[in-house]
Amino acid sequence: MKAEIIAVGTELLLGQIVNTNAQYLSRRLAELGIDVYYQTVVGDNPSRIRLAIETARERADLLVFTGGLGPTQDDLTKDVLADYLGRALEYDEPSMRKIVDFFQSRGAHMVESNKRQATSIAGAATLFNEAGLAVGNALESEGIRYMLLPGPPREMKPMFDGAGATWLRSELGEMLPLYSRILKFAGIGESKLEDALIDLIESQTDPTIAPYAKEGEVAIRVSTKAASANEANQKIDATVDQIRQRAGQFLFAEEDIPLEEAIVRLLRASKRTLASAESCTGGMFAELVTNIPGSSGEFAGGVVTYTNVMKHQLLGIPMAQLEGEGAPGAISESTAAMMAERVRERAAADFGISITGVAGPAESEGKPVGLVYYAIAQQGKPTDVHTMHLSGSRDIIRVRAVKAVLYRLWL
Ligand code: ATP
Ligand code: MG
Repeated sequence: MKAEIIAVGTELLLGQIVNTNAQYLSRRLAELGIDVYYQTVVGDNPSRIRLAIETARERADLLVFTGGLGPTQDDLTKDVLADYLGRALEYDEPSMRKIVDFFQSRGAHMVESNKRQATSIAGAATLFNEAGLAVGNALESEGIRYMLLPGPPREMKPMFDGAGATWLRSELGEMLPLYSRILKFAGIGESKLEDALIDLIESQTDPTIAPYAKEGEVAIRVSTKAASANEANQKIDATVDQIRQRAGQFLFAEEDIPLEEAIVRLLRASKRTLASAESCTGGMFAELVTNIPGSSGEFAGGVVTYTNVMKHQLLGIPMAQLEGEGAPGAISESTAAMMAERVRERAAADFGISITGVAGPAESEGKPVGLVYYAIAQQGKPTDVHTMHLSGSRDIIRVRAVKAVLYRLWL
């Protein structure tokens, strides 16, 4: 079963509203085990809606429409489809009664066009609208199935999830639902990871392995259709084992959580705490960690020591270390180490981390854009200092620096 979602509405094409219905329907159809091959958006124009139907019939066998079931002259979806199929429009009695009651109970005058919302394509099943007045339709013609849903999400969602899904199940028999697991990776780029897994990605059809990237992190979705969660988990486990053999050292979670959340959980499990001293990342590390609810148990706090004076005043780093003839400077291995050690001591934390570097756009201390040092200090252990040469914009350099520290902590 190949589905196409056709969202009807000129306001979608004008960019006045976002096509959230397509996203919702795509997700729901996938959960029902139906593959969505295309999403189309078409304006409130009869000839173009007709063309969209003709095009979709060539490449899909389930067409799900949303929008254009309302009372006004620009609500055309039912009229165009009825005309296309050579079928009449009839009034659906329960919907008509609902419309008449609606206006009567409000003492409002019902105009002729309001009745349009009760029209139903001859021979189609009606999908009752719990949250509004326009009735939905579902039908089969020449092996192609059509479903017509209203545009307003608060009407569309209950109609699809209720009567719509029930109709699909009865038409198509029991379908296997789709189960997915998200794997999160750090410390490896998207293309490198894909390279490591290419044979699996190419040969594997069930479960499927599909990569997608976020800045500084890479995720993979492993999906399969199965009769039960148990069966799906067994299939997915076997695939995850193969992925782990190739890239296990980069895999930090088997669910869609950010790296900082994995770190907070790790610290919680080992009852250890963390403090940060940041320069070029301006508190981004602290921001990410404190975004995780309940991280106050693990994160003691952080300082943003942007200038040399602040590095000196707050962290006690000697001015002679930071500036002057022959000084290593603020952007140096030794300053990174001191920042991490001092903030750890002052916060009485188990780990202290630091980030100092040149995020750009201009160089600093005669050091190039993208040069970033970070350090992780731990009591009784030598401080772990790293040098990175990052490329990209200022934003990207800052995010990558923070993610690098998080990844190092995770290792
Ligand atoms: P109405 O009875 O309200 O006219 P309708 O079924 O005719 O409903 P439209 O006129 O196409 O639907 O859209 C009505 C409203 O529903 C839009 O103004 C918009 O707020 C919302 N809407 C329509 N289509 C979508 C969509 N694809 N995604 C999200 N919202 C939508
Ligand atoms: Mg409308």
